[in-house]
Amino acid sequence: MSANVSILTIGDELILGDRIDTNGPWLSRAMLSCGIKTVERRCVSDGIENIVEALQAVVGKSDVCILTGGLGPTEDDRTRKALAKALGEPLVEDEKALASIENWFSNAGLNMPSPNSVQALRPVSATWIENKHGTAPGLIASIENCIVLCLPGPPSELMPMFESVKSQVTEQLDCAAPMHTVELHAWGIAESIAGEKIKDLMQVDDPSVSILMGSAGITARVTSSDEQKRNAVAKEIECRWSPWVFGFENETLSSSLGKLVDGSIAIAESCTAGLVGDLIASTPGSSAWLSGGWITYSDALKCSQLGVGKALLEEFGAVSSEVAKAMCEGAAKISGATIGLSTTGIAGPSGGTELKPVGTVFIGCTFNGETQVRAFRFTGNRNEIRMRAANTALQMVRLLLVGEESDRMCWQHGGTER
Ligand code: AMP
Ligand code: MG
Repeated sequence: MSANVSILTIGDELILGDRIDTNGPWLSRAMLSCGIKTVERRCVSDGIENIVEALQAVVGKSDVCILTGGLGPTEDDRTRKALAKALGEPLVEDEKALASIENWFSNAGLNMPSPNSVQALRPVSATWIENKHGTAPGLIASIENCIVLCLPGPPSELMPMFESVKSQVTEQLDCAAPMHTVELHAWGIAESIAGEKIKDLMQVDDPSVSILMGSAGITARVTSSDEQKRNAVAKEIECRWSPWVFGFENETLSSSLGKLVDGSIAIAESCTAGLVGDLIASTPGSSAWLSGGWITYSDALKCSQLGVGKALLEEFGAVSSEVAKAMCEGAAKISGATIGLSTTGIAGPSGGTELKPVGTVFIGCTFNGETQVRAFRFTGNRNEIRMRAANTALQMVRLLLVGEESDRMCWQHGGTER
């Protein structure tokens, strides 16, 4: 049997729902990539007895138990005491741990406050682990045949500390082949259709395929210990989800667009009011291809800033294909950018009509003398509609740049006007 791990995430704030446990899922994935499967994950309050009880419940059935949180300097940080109690040992001050904490403060130009000295305590048989990113050293000990690893709560401290000790833990264990995941991301395809297209692949165990929906699109996760199998299935999904896949792993719609834009883009936003610009600016290096933009909420600004004709606004209304077209063409012309992009719509909850209900958004894109406008009926609340419109706008530019004509975009209402 290959080794397994149990994870205890400690903190009242996690139990009470004031903070979401991100360490637990992160550790499960990190351990899986070392070939160690999680058998149990528990959220435990800050009480010593509760921590001891949870630890005793899992050590018998786990090869490793990882605890996170409760290593701080305050009274409610009780992981050290609980570990000592579970081991039946006293706490002793570790000179080297104390020196490393003092050193951490002196590097920051500070004197160590006296309460921090408790962080240098460890149960007699435990070893301390250096924390290069904070004051709480980690601890490693053994209870029965289980390796017990205590890591700090802040994710920015936990992650590097885990990386620094993982080989020390895994070399003592019989690990399965490391499992890795490839992720690919798409925008513009409905979840049900995406699922239908890869139904057969999702029925296979290796690689395992799952679909996740998020505000940045739909993600397929392909997990296997076999790199070739993993990549082959990921490529197959990319093919079946074409043209909606914009990237793998850390790629975003904006970063994928950055690789395609030859020149620059200018944005005229109404209902998204800066979200499109924000998505683009969140990509490092976007200053090379983002010219700038306007938030033109009012008709007056649409006219004075973008040169949208008053007559057009009167005849078709601000939320119309004609105005979206004039806005993106105006943005490109006035800025001199190679691409102009515009959004105009009704984010709700009020303002909808029978012909243009809440969620109606027109997105215009002009490039190389061709202007496209697509009408959408986004679902969701006000901000979901705005976010969906912003992402869809980026995907529309991407489709235009790669020469993809598909009218079957998720939420699209009617054909594409060219
Ligand atoms: P502690 O080590 O318990 O003092 O926690 C320090 C900080 O890390 C607090 O802000 C916690 O809310 C945060 N933290 C602790 N455990 C977790 C966890 N499982 N997931 C995310 N954040 C956490
Ligand atoms: Mg805590």
